[in-house]
Amino acid sequence: MADSINIKESIGSIKGIGPKKQKTFEEYNIHTVEDFLYFFPREYQDRRTVTPIAGLKRGKDALIEGRVLVKKAPPFRYGKSKAPLSLLVEDETGRIEIVFFNARFLSGLFEVNEVYSFYGSPRVNSDRLQMIHPEFARAGSADDIRGIIPIYPKIPGISQKEIRKIQNTLRESYDSIEEWIPEDILREERLASISYALDNLHFPSDGKKTLAAKFRFIFSDMLVFQTGINLIKKGEEGVREAASFSCHPGDSFSENLPFELTPDQKKAWKSIKNDIEGKGRMNRLLQGDVGSGKTVIAEMAMLSASESGYQSVMMAPTELLAKQHIETFQKDLKAYGKKPELLISSMTRSEKNKVLEGLRDGSIDILIATHAVIQENVSFSNLGLVITDEQHRFGVNQRKKLSEKGEGANVLVMTATPIPRTLAVILYGDLDTSQIRSMPKGRKPVKTEKVNSLQRDEIYDFAMKEVEKGRQVYVVAPLIEDSESVDARSAESLFEESGKLFPGIKVSLVHGSMAQDEKDAVMESFVKGETRVLVSTVVIEVGINVPNATVMIIESYERFGLAQLHQLRGRVGRGSDESYCFLVSDTENEIALRRAEVMCTTNDGFEIAEQDLILRGPGEVFGTRQHGASQMILSDMVKYIDVLEKANERSKKLLEKDPGLSKEENQCIKERVRATFGEDISLQL
Ligand code: ADP
Ligand code: MG
Repeated sequence: MADSINIKESIGSIKGIGPKKQKTFEEYNIHTVEDFLYFFPREYQDRRTVTPIAGLKRGKDALIEGRVLVKKAPPFRYGKSKAPLSLLVEDETGRIEIVFFNARFLSGLFEVNEVYSFYGSPRVNSDRLQMIHPEFARAGSADDIRGIIPIYPKIPGISQKEIRKIQNTLRESYDSIEEWIPEDILREERLASISYALDNLHFPSDGKKTLAAKFRFIFSDMLVFQTGINLIKKGEEGVREAASFSCHPGDSFSENLPFELTPDQKKAWKSIKNDIEGKGRMNRLLQGDVGSGKTVIAEMAMLSASESGYQSVMMAPTELLAKQHIETFQKDLKAYGKKPELLISSMTRSEKNKVLEGLRDGSIDILIATHAVIQENVSFSNLGLVITDEQHRFGVNQRKKLSEKGEGANVLVMTATPIPRTLAVILYGDLDTSQIRSMPKGRKPVKTEKVNSLQRDEIYDFAMKEVEKGRQVYVVAPLIEDSESVDARSAESLFEESGKLFPGIKVSLVHGSMAQDEKDAVMESFVKGETRVLVSTVVIEVGINVPNATVMIIESYERFGLAQLHQLRGRVGRGSDESYCFLVSDTENEIALRRAEVMCTTNDGFEIAEQDLILRGPGEVFGTRQHGASQMILSDMVKYIDVLEKANERSKKLLEKDPGLSKEENQCIKERVRATFGEDISLQL
């Protein structure tokens, strides 16, 4: 290998990666040498200490070192022989059998009387101590498996050893990779250089150095992200006069509701009113747990805009949610002579054109839409209020594009994902925040219970009884279909089983790889109550409102994060009936058990978010590099909030000195900002 590489070249240009492996890598988003360099370890295993064979514990991964006493290889002539390759290995303290199935080809790698290291999980098979398919190496050889070993995210068909080997061939070229962070930033922020950082991530020798390496990459990712955000904010600054209108119509709307607003709803509305009626333009984040009643607040604001002669739009993340909203809005606002309209991609051309026309000439003043509203050629005659529902599902640039549709339009951003205050300030800058923490009266907390597979029949019986009472049930699984490599329940297998679990009941299946219109049809039938039991993957996570559903069964719950579990549970307990959530699993994983405990003890989303941070917090090593201002980045940022703060400060300094990023040394940063935020956003560059 030459000592300099072109990191933009295809991954296939690396020696030892043929077309087949190239394709596998590409499936995992590793296209170039650079992508591979940024394919970071998921964790590190400390294999520095050799465990004596006598000290092995069943099921606990360990490194041993011993001499091969006996080698039993299956005979070569019988190509199909199922006999395993077996080694009897001995150290001073004891003996162990090492077994490889279907791996006759490994036989030549072992010699009797030589010493090897093995790393694996010991087990006992009819009184014999064994290790099945351990990692191995000749003691003292170049590819020794001792030390601190990086463990990469799994790519089926490519072994850990192989990944390490490829990284090893690239290693000598690390020094020739161009540093893209300007020198003064490196120096002042005490960042590791690119080559040092790569070396210590892929070839860890010392915890502190690896930490410095991680810090560099996290910091630089966030520097790019924050620079983009700050450029967007700068673009917003020169904003013209804000739309200001009276909120009395919203007040009278709330007085005519069949329920009283909760104290927190009232408080949020008061702040919104202040913003809108005041001089400046509203830029407010409304956080409220699932089911806390954000939608009515949106209705109040939109009705006020309309009565004051302004148009308003609410953008929802899915068509289904948009449809649900339009139904609510049309019903609630009819008495006020309003006719809210819908704009979604699946409408016909002529339907859309009619809406576009109405928006242009101002005859439509209340619009519910999906992101179609930013993609289509939409213009408003007098847009005064822009609302995004479930903001965490949208990128920053989408929010920005929407608000650009109206000069000085007020902006309200709603989310059920609590964002810590510090993070909100950085991400949204001038955004003020309101929180709805109290739930509507009469809402009972969802009774939550963790159950194991032995109790499954019981809970499905219970769910069936609820269905017989006229209620509806959700069953959620982490996988779409069964998988050999992942031990978890799938929606398809549960759907198959459902005939038995819910005899004579209409059960439907919905999952992420179904076509959008299929999904919508299933969801609609559940919303209407025709489908009584909905089996699904997490596609139902966001926003859907079926107050008649009282049971949520989450299978293999250990596969879901705490925030996700909470979102899922939020689908029930939306009516006045007692609701139940069952977390099904036999897992003994400590973190998973902690998550269940948190779920069983609290229904408060803010508390759960805090616990989530604590549980995910330390010790987590980040995976692959993230492109784009995605939800992933956002959730990662929560983990690295202080790094984000630093990166934000640095990015502000950078833009002060070089507002358009036109200096030579900042070109690489500029390029990366563009790649992250896309060309099509006006970054004032
Ligand atoms: P989310 O905040 O998750 O968007 P929604 O706005 O969908 O929640 O509200 C959930 C349900 O609660 C709706 O059916 C809504 O009509 C009802 N709701 C909202 N506010 C109140 C309240 N103050 N009292 C009783 N029910 C309410
Ligand atoms: Mg909602």
